[in-house]
Amino acid sequence: MPPLLTSRAISSLFLSTRSFPSMATTTASVAPKSRLRGVVFDMDGTLTVPVIDFQAMYRAVLGEEEYLALKSRKPFTGIDILHHIENWSPDKQRRAYEIIADFEQQGLDRLQIMPVASKLCGFLDSRNIRRGLITRNVKAAVDLFHLKFGITFAPALSREFRPYKPDPAPLLHICSTWDVLPNEVMMIGDSLKDDIACGKRAGAFTCLLDETGRYDTPEFENVAFKPDYKVSSLAEVYSLLEANFDLIP
Ligand SMILES: [Mg+2]
Repeated sequence: MPPLLTSRAISSLFLSTRSFPSMATTTASVAPKSRLRGVVFDMDGTLTVPVIDFQAMYRAVLGEEEYLALKSRKPFTGIDILHHIENWSPDKQRRAYEIIADFEQQGLDRLQIMPVASKLCGFLDSRNIRRGLITRNVKAAVDLFHLKFGITFAPALSREFRPYKPDPAPLLHICSTWDVLPNEVMMIGDSLKDDIACGKRAGAFTCLLDETGRYDTPEFENVAFKPDYKVSSLAEVYSLLEANFDLIP
């Protein structure tokens, strides 16, 4: 794996040099489209219908008091439960992982593929565009997803790959495996704090899937990492890719 810049270094580099693609098409002087060679997806809530109640999971792990205290301190970024429990005592941490595993198991029992996800993958395959996956869920969940979905993503990195999202490491690892540059890849996910932060820190294009419009509220106007694109359904991704990128593997 290539040496990683610090998140701060990457974001300052990014903020100072990156130019965003324009959604507007005007005259013949329009800049050439960016080349896109791969798409990396989040799994839960992006390729699968969201079924895990994360707030209930955080409550169960933290207890009501700590949950409310933490939530009030991090209203914009949200709670990073995996990171939060990393420094707990082994016993407390084991109990926390058991609770998280219970919630994730419930999610697996009700696993449903997002409508149009397989069509979108078929479209990417027809253009020979690479497909990868990064999730904070466990490998067993990815294995079951592959089995049920009947389509495999490669690489597919679960939380056994450290550090996990929102660190850019898993995305940079995939780029390196594919031998493509981060700015030739798009990260698509439903979490601003994990997927978009990971993608932007890596220097990739990012697309936020926001089915319910929950990120339309003013509290998200001043977040550190804003997506390049936002869609309310995966069905919008085809035209977004066609309109803004040269899909050249
Ligand atoms: Mg998700």
